[in-house]
Amino acid sequence: MVNPNNTPDYEAVAAGLDRWRQVPNEVLRDVVMRRGLCLWGLWPAQEPDWDDCAPSDRRLAARLCAGCPVIEQCLELELRMAGPCTTGVWGALAEGDRRALHPIWQRRRHQQDGTDQEGGRSS
Ligand code: SF4
Repeated sequence: MVNPNNTPDYEAVAAGLDRWRQVPNEVLRDVVMRRGLCLWGLWPAQEPDWDDCAPSDRRLAARLCAGCPVIEQCLELELRMAGPCTTGVWGALAEGDRRALHPIWQRRRHQQDGTDQEGGRSS
């Protein structure tokens, strides 16, 4: 999904999440809980070198989430639930990248929902 050596294309990542826009939180939560690799203790074949990776590291996020079948659902849910206060690794992105992604994702949602930045209906 994201090359850990480069800054993610936040616009592209946010656009890729549009498909989950109308999926309720509880449905996303259920699918992540049932299928998320880390939630089942299914680590990648080559476990990250934990001493070499800070929790915010892109490489750690990419390796930890490699092969997970619910990366997009996990990322969408984390953006909704934690917003700009997100921490740790979720959705194959480091927290700094999710914090940078959040306002872009949020702007798209406001535009799609016909709301302004304060949540009110736009004309
Ligand atoms: S995307 Fe990563 S953090 Fe989310 S459930 Fe999958 S392995 Fe866990």
